[in-house]
Amino acid sequence: MDFLTMTIGKQKNIALIAHDSKKHEMIDWCQEHKEILKGHFLCGTGTTARMITEATGLPVKGYNSGPLGGDQQIGAKIVEGRVDFVVFFSDPLTAQPHDPDVKALLRIAQVYDIPIANNKATADFLITSRFMNEEYEHKIINFHQNIAERARTL
Ligand code: PGA
Repeated sequence: MDFLTMTIGKQKNIALIAHDSKKHEMIDWCQEHKEILKGHFLCGTGTTARMITEATGLPVKGYNSGPLGGDQQIGAKIVEGRVDFVVFFSDPLTAQPHDPDVKALLRIAQVYDIPIANNKATADFLITSRFMNEEYEHKIINFHQNIAERARTL
């Protein structure tokens, strides 16, 4: 398989998502790391984004609410190279109507080798990583070549 080297810039495009039972934990986490988060571009699913902005003053661009497609919008931004870091406090104890979208987002983050934290401890480790202040090069599958190869051989 051929790979492309991609660069996650010094200033990250961070997506913030929290299920309802985790929203206050997310707000507290943003408050705790506000000084670091200030230096990056923030976006999130609709309700999470609004609640973070109201509570912390951090500018967070809001997409649709998660159950209405917000997770899919963020997944699409990962594909386009416009989101390169995700903090997703999901609720492991409650069934979600948009569970397929949640899975799709996790999967696409894995495909594109995007750092993604799904609990506070992981988020704490990620946000304090030295890579937050540096460019980071990583390898993703060369999809152009992949398409050409598939079209030729299938
Ligand atoms: P919300 O969506 O921020 O609009 O609540 C989050 C989710 O449930 O995925």
